Amino acid sequence: MGDGRKALKDWIDDGRRIVFFGGAGVSTESGIKDFRSADGLYSMQYKYPPEEILSHHFFMENPEEFFRFYRDKMVAPDAGPSGAHLALAELERQGKLTAVITQNIDGLHQKAGSKNVIELHGSVLRNTCVRCGKAYTLSDVLKTEGVPRCVCGGVIKPDVVLYEEALREEDLTAAVKALAGADLLIVGGTSLSVYPAAGLLHYFRGRRLALINRTETGFDDRAGLILRDKVGEVLFQAVFGDR
Ligand code: ZN
Repeated sequence: MGDGRKALKDWIDDGRRIVFFGGAGVSTESGIKDFRSADGLYSMQYKYPPEEILSHHFFMENPEEFFRFYRDKMVAPDAGPSGAHLALAELERQGKLTAVITQNIDGLHQKAGSKNVIELHGSVLRNTCVRCGKAYTLSDVLKTEGVPRCVCGGVIKPDVVLYEEALREEDLTAAVKALAGADLLIVGGTSLSVYPAAGLLHYFRGRRLALINRTETGFDDRAGLILRDKVGEVLFQAVFGDR
């Protein structure tokens, strides 16, 4: 085990109120693509950049194209938890981890068994009719074609936070509370470039901040520990050992 990994394991062993803050890198190991890492596919198949398609005004004005992209790129109903998801669920079971705060919308933390998951950008697993408020599951939505419609005729909107939409107040409050009370903050699989989510880290007052990310982040100078590594591999080894 490398020095960085050993130090992280020691911090986790000591931790009593660990909080994990994660991004797309946590789920890429589950085979879910980061839609921001736009590859050539987008330009060939879509006339608009992903940030445009995933915006509130685009959803309202062009729902057909929104759902074409959404079904193609944003949902992966067959994906399973990665090493990071499993390790974090285990730490919560042991009573050492108080919250997972995620920018992902795939529901994989819950699939791995985590209970207290704060989904800053919502979840594809929840869907609501914009007209009458009726709730639908992801499989309800996937059974339809084109723009999914409620029995009342209204459009069914995924409960994900689109660009131009505000984060939910209750999620922000819960995230701030968890961060303010944490004795160890592990940030993984995110370059911390998406605001306001990344700005939440300022509420962490503890001395132990560990960053696990392949590339530089905006918080590298605040971290006591930086691992330029795969977050799933690192966390799985720290929690379950070499098995
Ligand atoms: Zn309805």
